[in-house]
Amino acid sequence: MSPIIEYENLLNSNKEFNDAFIHAFESVLNSGWYILGNKVETFENEFALFTQAKHSIGVASGLDALILALKVYDFPVGSEVIVPSNTYIASILSIIHCNLKPVLVEPELNTYNINPDLIEEKITSKTKAIMVVHLYGKSCNMDAIMKIANKYKLALVEDCAQAHGAKFKGNQVGTFGIGAFSFYPTKNLGAIGDAGAITTFDDDLAQKFKALRNYGSRVKYQNDYLGYNSRLDEVQAAMLSVKLKYLNEIIHFKRKLANIYLSELKKDFICPVVSDDYFDVYHIFNIRHSQRDDLKKYLLENGIKTEIHYPIPPHKQKALQGLVAGDYPIAEKIHNTTLSLPISYGHTENEIYRVVETLNRF
Ligand SMILES: *Cc1c(COP(=O)(O)O)cnc(C)c1O
Repeated sequence: MSPIIEYENLLNSNKEFNDAFIHAFESVLNSGWYILGNKVETFENEFALFTQAKHSIGVASGLDALILALKVYDFPVGSEVIVPSNTYIASILSIIHCNLKPVLVEPELNTYNINPDLIEEKITSKTKAIMVVHLYGKSCNMDAIMKIANKYKLALVEDCAQAHGAKFKGNQVGTFGIGAFSFYPTKNLGAIGDAGAITTFDDDLAQKFKALRNYGSRVKYQNDYLGYNSRLDEVQAAMLSVKLKYLNEIIHFKRKLANIYLSELKKDFICPVVSDDYFDVYHIFNIRHSQRDDLKKYLLENGIKTEIHYPIPPHKQKALQGLVAGDYPIAEKIHNTTLSLPISYGHTENEIYRVVETLNRF
C-alpha cells in the first residue's frame, strides 16, 4: 500500500526553515534579552509591512489578539458584538471574556463567511462592534460589511487567524478594521509555539495595545490601564521573522495545491468558490459532501488523513449553553458536511493528485 498522506506534518512543513530557526534561536540566546526586545520590534515592523497596516503589535496568541482588540474600546458591560455562527469558538470566547454579548449571524452557504444581508436585522441600540472571521483563508465581503459598520458607527474587528495575506479587492485582511492574527503552528504563518498579533492604522490604539499586553504600562512601573500579560516573546518573534520571508511562497504553494483540487475533483464534491475580487490563501481547503462521515472513513482506509473544521458548531458547544440563543441551520449544515483535505507546505503535488484520484473513485 502507498504511504500514508498526513493531514499535516509540521516537521515536513517546517524542515526547510530549520537551519534558520536554529540560527535565530542562538541569536536570542546570545542576546540575553528574552521579552520585548528588538526581535519583537523587528517582527512587528516586518509584519506591518507585510499586511500593509500601519502598526502591528505582537501578543501571546490569536485569542489574546481578539480579546485585546475588543478590550481596547472599553465597551460597557453587556454591549453586543455581531459574530458569525460558523467559526472556531475562539472568536465567540473573546467576546464573552470581555463581558460582552455575542450575537450570532449565519454565514453564506457558498463562502462560509458571515452573510452581510443578515447583519442589519441583528443590530440593536446595544450593538457596538462587528467581528468578522475570514474563515479558511477567504476574506469576507468587506464592501458590504464596511458599509454597515460605517452606517451604524460600529467598531470592526477582523479575526484573521486563518487568513494572513488574503485580500478583498486588492486590500489585505487586517487593514479594514482592527486585525487579530494567530501564529498557532498550523496557521499559514505559524510559530514554534503560541503567538499572535494585532494590526491597526490608529496611532493611539496602537499605543494602548502595547500597554494592554504589558500590564497596562507604557512606562515601567506606571500602570495606566487594567492590563494583561500577553507579550509575544523574543524567541517566537525571531522564528516568525524567519518564516515571514517565505509567507508569500507558502501562500503561492498552497494556492497551487488548491488549484489541483479545484480543477481535478469531480463535481460530486462542493469545492470552495473562487472569484476575482477575492485572493484566497487556503489555510484550509474544505469540500462539502452529504456523506461526509463515510467519505472521511473511506479516505482513511485509503491512507489519507483529513480533518473536520469543525465537528460541533459553537452554539452547540457545552461551554456556550445559555450564552448564545437561537437556531443556526446553515452553520449546522456546514459543520455536518464539511471535510478538510490535506493542503500544507509539507505536501507534494503528487500527494495532492493521489488524494484527488482517491476522492474521484468514491
Ligand atoms: C486559530 C484560531 C484562533 C485562535 O488562535 P490561537 O492562536 O490558537 O489563540 C481564533 N480564530 C480562528 C478563526 C482560528 O482559526
